[in-house]
Amino acid sequence: MYNFAIIGGGIVGLSTGMALRQRYPDASIIVLEKEACIASHQTGRNSGVIHSGIYYPSGSFKAKFTSVGNKSMIDFCRTYDIPHEVCGKVIVATRKKELPLLDNLYQRGLEKKLEVKKISSQEVKEIEPYVNCLAGVYVPTSGIVDYKKVSQKYSELIQEQGGEILLNTKVERIIKNSDSQILETNQGTIKTNFVINCAGLYSDRVAQLAQVDNQVKIVPFRGEYYELIPEKRYLVKNLIYPVPNPDFPFLGVHFTRMIDGSVHAGPNAVLSLKREGYEKTDFNLRDFAEVMTYPGFWKLVAKHADEGIKEMIRSFSKAAFVHSLQQLIPEVTMSDVVVSKSGIRAQALETNGKLVNDFLIIQDTQALHVCNAPSPAATASLEIGKAIVSQIP
Ligand SMILES: Cc1cc2nc3c(=O)[nH]c(=O)nc-3n(C[C@H](O)[C@H](O)[C@H](O)COP(=O)(O)OP(=O)(O)OC[C@H]3O[C@@H](n4cnc5c(N)ncnc54)[C@H](O)[C@@H]3O)c2cc1C
Repeated sequence: MYNFAIIGGGIVGLSTGMALRQRYPDASIIVLEKEACIASHQTGRNSGVIHSGIYYPSGSFKAKFTSVGNKSMIDFCRTYDIPHEVCGKVIVATRKKELPLLDNLYQRGLEKKLEVKKISSQEVKEIEPYVNCLAGVYVPTSGIVDYKKVSQKYSELIQEQGGEILLNTKVERIIKNSDSQILETNQGTIKTNFVINCAGLYSDRVAQLAQVDNQVKIVPFRGEYYELIPEKRYLVKNLIYPVPNPDFPFLGVHFTRMIDGSVHAGPNAVLSLKREGYEKTDFNLRDFAEVMTYPGFWKLVAKHADEGIKEMIRSFSKAAFVHSLQQLIPEVTMSDVVVSKSGIRAQALETNGKLVNDFLIIQDTQALHVCNAPSPAATASLEIGKAIVSQIP
């Protein structure tokens, strides 16, 4: 019998494991992960940016956890010698109508007491010589890291302190008793007092296994990337972002220098027809039917049809993708970029068609369900882990 069982060995499940260890040093803890290695899904397939927290509205969990999480992630990497860089980023307006939105972002940064600087197009060029824009905001505290490596360190620490991590173990059924819960897995049965669901793209289904009516559905949005060919990496020094559409939780296609030196361009955001389907042609009937029969999805489509169509075109047409990139760096051409691996965001959607913007943790008897932990949950993971544990009654 374990005191705590965590479902999901992504960065959120693992940070929760570490936070549990700190708060309950004598407790028995197990992390159950269905894949053969940790961080196989969102955590291992993202942009690798340590966000500053500038984007998120004051008062949200995202704002609170990300500005603190930025510092704790950087401290963690320093403490454990994980390769990372605090390289800073520019957010740039390339059209006149984006200037007020850029100013809003700047004001948001100031409100949250972040280090931010308004810069002219000339000053942007001093930082990113190939960017063409009208104005920018410079955020020096943004950085880059490989979150798979961060997660590996989290998992080592959990195990050094007596916690267990079981790989290839998929939770298939949850039986609730008055004093314990039985998790039926493909590897046998685990008995526990308390369950923490950090199952990412499957967090809503795991909540359903525990008969929790979470009133949201995970809609998988694939983020596709291209990569600059090595000879063109000089076009990007660090991180170059457009001004995001304020109606969307996604940040718009951007350029990211990864910690391994490669430069990624993307991600877009298209509906995936399979929850863990990383190829455009991947399809799963249950996943597809669930989205198509969910009223919230059609309300979302009705509100954002234009944007959705643009994203689909950008997904199927390299020319359209490159055209978006050229808004930031006009010199980029079709032959400068090649397809790179994609990631899939677990984005919760309400039945009324509203995308859940903030982190969402649902409390149940002897369980917590993390039902929305999209970007920047990797940056904020140490803070999210602590926040989850602080909600244990
Ligand atoms: C394209 C993209 C770009 C992003 N860029 C950034 C970025 O630059 N910076 C940033 O901070 N964040 C970024 N994010 C967000 C960040 O990656 C996620 O918020 C974070 O990784 C979520 O972690 P998680 O542990 O909740 O989910 P995951 O990493 O998806 O982990 C969930 C785990 O649960 C396991 N699981 C599921 N069901 C079961 C089951 N039944 N039994 C056992 N195990 C199960 C899965 O196999 C998986 O390993 C990005 C995300 C994407 C997709």
